[in-house]
Amino acid sequence: MTEIKYITIEEAINKKPQTVNLRGWVYRERKSNKFVFIVLRDESDIIQCVISKSKNAELFEKAEKLTIESSVKVSGELKEDDRAPSGFEVSVTEMEIVQIANPFPITEHQSPELLYDNRHLWIRSRKLNAVLKVRHTVVGAIHQFFRSRGYYEFDAPIFQPSQSEGGATLFEVKYFEDVMYLSQTWQLYAEAGIFSLGKIYNMGPTFRAEKSKTSRHLAEFWMAEMEAAWMTLDELTEVAKDEIRFIVQEVLKHNKKELEILERDVKLLEHYAEAEYPTIKYAEALEILNNKYQMNVPWGKDLRTMEEAKIAEHFKVPVIVTHYPTEIMGFYKPPSEENPKEALCFDALAPEGYCEIIGGSQRSLLVDDMKKRLEADGEDPGNYEWYFALRNYGSVPHSGYGLGVERVVQWMCGLDNIKDAIPFPRTMIRKSP
Ligand code: ATP
Ligand code: MG
Repeated sequence: MTEIKYITIEEAINKKPQTVNLRGWVYRERKSNKFVFIVLRDESDIIQCVISKSKNAELFEKAEKLTIESSVKVSGELKEDDRAPSGFEVSVTEMEIVQIANPFPITEHQSPELLYDNRHLWIRSRKLNAVLKVRHTVVGAIHQFFRSRGYYEFDAPIFQPSQSEGGATLFEVKYFEDVMYLSQTWQLYAEAGIFSLGKIYNMGPTFRAEKSKTSRHLAEFWMAEMEAAWMTLDELTEVAKDEIRFIVQEVLKHNKKELEILERDVKLLEHYAEAEYPTIKYAEALEILNNKYQMNVPWGKDLRTMEEAKIAEHFKVPVIVTHYPTEIMGFYKPPSEENPKEALCFDALAPEGYCEIIGGSQRSLLVDDMKKRLEADGEDPGNYEWYFALRNYGSVPHSGYGLGVERVVQWMCGLDNIKDAIPFPRTMIRKSP
């Protein structure tokens, strides 16, 4: 017996009309007295298949039993057909039903909550399939970007004995007889890693107990971080710009079809792929907010989402904002020498309301200052002895940043909610499936 060679729907469409063997799931079905039409889907695309009663009554009877999401193998003649959704149609000559699906719980026009409850099924939707493919490109682009520039991949522990991004968002976990915390960032370990490997990067799961319900925060997300010895803030922001631009270019190169399914404005992405991104200081951002938008933001306050959105709207491309007030920044973000009230740090803000996608800084070398700032936050500097010790063994200027993978996927895909940028989202109220 010769084995049947199956191809994907995309491969079938790309080939000339011919006999094809496909396997997949029933995406849509429509029955009349004379025909059963099914739209078959697989990982690559969808295609209309038609079973004609007059041509094969037995097959027609079998096809009548098909329900949405039933799994099938079909063989038939592929023809161009303007009336079919993809411009092609398969006239089915043979069919094997693998499983008849129960009534599918997701029908058209469902509430978002029902879709999240049925996430294990909803990830098959065309929308989520497209998002997950864009995510695949984004993740691949990040690895490619850093590896092609000589960065080494370096992993940090997920169980960590202390906080690095503020105690308020720490997840405490039982660790044998002790407690530990889930990683909020790889940064402190990365600062040790650069003394061995120079330039390093990583992409890993990151955990923050975000209590506010926003469309931009997850409790579990993936952060892509980099750290480099000898690097200053000026060089760091250029790396961030190059990385963002490279990701956009890769998405445009690999995901035109997905962007179309998601109804994403490709012209805008093409603009981001070419444009220069401005760098401004926090103080200049305040001038724009207060003069152009009459927002009255006083110096010393962190920018809120609506303020970040206005800054990016003003430039219509990703913007780098540097030199936020030292006082409101993490303990490891150093004061600038010229004006200690300003920290050597930056955020990258995406346009169209997507806001912060990257946060980073030069790293402080001032151990006493860091200890004071930790104490002011109610932390015990004693938990950071190994970290401070790095400053005693050939300390050098160094910098790093973290990019939120889901934030970037959300922006690339034009998604309203970050929950759709990850297969199984975790937030304060969303724990399953
Ligand atoms: P935000 O102010 O938006 O909460 P942050 O200042 O806490 O961000 P950083 O600590 O600088 O963020 O983390 C680096 C990047 O990780 C952010 O720029 C963002 O892209 C991403 N990120 C941070 N927190 C979350 C979260 N809860 N969910 C998804 N992505 C996040
Ligand atoms: Mg935060």
